[in-house]
Amino acid sequence: MRKVSIFGATGSIGQNTIDLIGRDPSAYDVVALTGGAKIEQLAKDARRLNADLAVTAHEDRLGDLRDALAGSGIEAAAGQQALTEAAARPADWVMSAIVGSAGLPPGLEALKQGATLALANKETLVCAGALVLETARKHDAKLLPVDSEHSAVFQALVGEDMQAVERIIITASGGAFRDWPLSDLASATVEQASSHPNWNMGQRITIDSASMFNKALELIETKEFFGVAPSQIEVLVHPESIVHSLVGFTDGAVMAHMGAPDMRHAIGYALNWPDRRDLPVDRLNLAKLGQLRFHDPDEARYPALRLARHVMERGGLSGAIFNAGKERALDHFIDRKIGFLEMADIVETALDRAEAESSLIDAPLTLDNVLQTDHLARKWVDETVAQRAG
Ligand code: NDP
Ligand code: MG
Repeated sequence: MRKVSIFGATGSIGQNTIDLIGRDPSAYDVVALTGGAKIEQLAKDARRLNADLAVTAHEDRLGDLRDALAGSGIEAAAGQQALTEAAARPADWVMSAIVGSAGLPPGLEALKQGATLALANKETLVCAGALVLETARKHDAKLLPVDSEHSAVFQALVGEDMQAVERIIITASGGAFRDWPLSDLASATVEQASSHPNWNMGQRITIDSASMFNKALELIETKEFFGVAPSQIEVLVHPESIVHSLVGFTDGAVMAHMGAPDMRHAIGYALNWPDRRDLPVDRLNLAKLGQLRFHDPDEARYPALRLARHVMERGGLSGAIFNAGKERALDHFIDRKIGFLEMADIVETALDRAEAESSLIDAPLTLDNVLQTDHLARKWVDETVAQRAG
């Protein structure tokens, strides 16, 4: 039996992972499941999968979790430290599907144990790419992509030599506002930004798709994961979300990965890697689809892409500033304190401020420095939002 743990089990990726594992329970020994506020869901899944341990990120919910697990014999724990301790428990395969940079410490810890880390949490690579890759190398741990674009690229690269890769083209649906006139975006509401045309995902990544902050994070994720130069990475808007990404080779060939927009494909690929197994996803009928459309992204509409290009060139801790600034700006948008277009402005202000403190971005890429920088960027965003309000 394979020992598996799922971080962020109560979220969209976590529930899809549980769906796959739950179809073949005798193959898996579930070590830890973690969640946040959804205590009932966490306890229900922990009981169903007979997990050893369930952890909520919220310390003040430990009593609720204990109550929900009463009589099951399943251990309960709470808080950020408990999440990292759960990641230290030996497991063969660990799903990293917490949302935000909170996923970094447990992800690093799982790599230190030599586990195979299935990485949905792209923030891990955006904040601390070199540190994460080095930790995996040092502990002989495998990192597998779960983001659909990166899974697609990873699959297109099987058996290929990276020297023959000319470019990586990551596709983008364009999100909720792709057909909106630019002039309407400033007044876009949280509800409007929270509905994705093709994918069913958590609220935060759905809003990030509308602003293309999600694609911006994925540009950086691509650079870190595949070790290519920023100039080799392109973004292509593809409204149907059928082509998940493409790799262009030096002989002019382009390999595209296609499939229905269902995250259980990428999760299942990482779960079964290096094999392929049957997965419960819809099969493509291209004749029925009839046509697939592609066009270049409009950078005026999506300033997040320009900021990501700056971060890729700048390196160091600029990814941690970018990600934390984005997370905090998104909090303020969801709280209706700032408008949709203000998010990119505010993140840019944080990046400028970091640049003015030159030693900050170039400090060594350690977990402590990433966490401190993350904290600082959030504080700066709060200050900017307060100034704007006042
Ligand atoms: P969700 O918001 O649906 O789920 C997030 C999970 O993290 C939940 O289990 C949540 O708990 C938990 N959580 C929230 N805050 C914290 C915290 N501070 N500390 C620990 N745990 C926390 O997100 P998604 O599943 O959509 O996304 C998860 C990750 O996967 C993100 O990094 C996203 O970018 C990435 N991803 C997602 C895709 C998708 O299809 N959804 C596609 C590609 C990548 P609770 O809900 O109980 O509060
Ligand atoms: Mg993606």
